[in-house]
Amino acid sequence: MKAKIAEIFKSTQGEGIYQGLEQVFIRFFGCNLKCKFCDTPLATYSEFGSSDLMDKITEYGQNYHSVSLTGGEPLLQHEFLKEILPLIRQKGLKTYLETNGILHQELSGVIQDIDIVAMDFKLPSSTGMPVFWPEHEKFLRIALKKEVFVKIVVLNSTREREVHRSISLIRSFNKDIPLVFQPEFSEMKQQELISKIQNYKNLAGQYLNNVSILLQQHKLEGIK
Ligand code: SF4
Repeated sequence: MKAKIAEIFKSTQGEGIYQGLEQVFIRFFGCNLKCKFCDTPLATYSEFGSSDLMDKITEYGQNYHSVSLTGGEPLLQHEFLKEILPLIRQKGLKTYLETNGILHQELSGVIQDIDIVAMDFKLPSSTGMPVFWPEHEKFLRIALKKEVFVKIVVLNSTREREVHRSISLIRSFNKDIPLVFQPEFSEMKQQELISKIQNYKNLAGQYLNNVSILLQQHKLEGIK
């Protein structure tokens, strides 16, 4: 089986609770969504079989935190993930899945070989996409078999009632699940966005134990 891979590189994780750690990134081509703030509109890809991809990963040695399966949406290529994830773990490497948190059936087929799930909640007022609450709920239920944290991208357009719903959903499972708010600074009115996101953090902090605001560090540092 071949996978469509947009790029492979080693860099520093720029988002979420593992920000700052070295990872090897496997960026899968293609996504099931079209978020209005998307910064990865990928136009090209190469095809890799699992042994070719393992050769590439092996070139980076072992001295880093984990292999990030990112995208796009890597779970669109879940049949290939079923092949490659066990091979990565057999090398003694951790697997870190970056996902939009929607394709729960596909997740259930690969969760046994994932160590960390970095999932998004896609709020309609942020993404311009439809609501995905049932999908996010099913996805989080499966992801909780492993380590998981939730990320929400906040724009000026983000609605508080959708943030409320996100907090309730996380709390209904476990109030210790980390929640990260990530501001999207490509828009104007930055001061408005900063105060909005601080309000959301304070609100979430009343119901959840592990809430943070994290910027996209790789963009600030100008690295990939
Ligand atoms: S889910 Fe991620 S990769 Fe897909 S469109 Fe949204 S931001 Fe872009």
